[in-house]
Amino acid sequence: MNPWFGKAAFLFQLAAIIVIRTPHRRRVDEQRVVHSRKGRLEAMLLALMWIATTILPLVSILTPLVAFADHALHPAAFVGGVISMASGLWLLHRSHADLGPNWSITLEIREQHALVSDGVYAHIRHPMYTALFLQSLAQALLLPNWLAGPAYFVAFLLMFSLRVTGEERMMLERFGDEYTAYCGRTKRLIPGVW
Ligand code: SAH
Repeated sequence: MNPWFGKAAFLFQLAAIIVIRTPHRRRVDEQRVVHSRKGRLEAMLLALMWIATTILPLVSILTPLVAFADHALHPAAFVGGVISMASGLWLLHRSHADLGPNWSITLEIREQHALVSDGVYAHIRHPMYTALFLQSLAQALLLPNWLAGPAYFVAFLLMFSLRVTGEERMMLERFGDEYTAYCGRTKRLIPGVW
């Protein structure tokens, strides 16, 4: 099928992520950070995510620089990509709504930080990362380019595996037994599974 269907759907996802995140970004900026784990590793992971989710895809859509890695767009990949995108965007919206002012783009504890354990956080501890995972799948399925398509998926795997242990340790240090009990009744990414 025409590759521009996939590219257009990808651009929609990119715009929708910005629309969902911007008001939350503004709101959390008002909350003072009292503890931050933003070291060199976190800065590198954020840069990698930026390149994989935005720069490389836009280069593949707007320039011929990586056109050597283009491939055909299969209708089944398009349908799978749209389903993945829709569920990822819904979950991104829900997790932002539930996490509220406790959200950070990196690992931080804010003044008056509360442990959120309801809404989508009642089922899994990292619904926002599940949303990113679904968005990375959508990008791989929708962008018909072997470099730009899977880039987000690879960056997500790296970001998640290097970040999640530190994040859970930070939450444990801040919330103690309350967080241990919360971990006992929730999974990390997939409800009831893992
Ligand atoms: N890992 C979570 C949150 C990502 S945002 C998710 O995927 O949904 C990262 C910030 O969220 C961290 O700085 C941490 O302080 C905060 N955080 C993570 N889990 C939280 C929870 N259950 N309640 C409150 N804040 C949380």
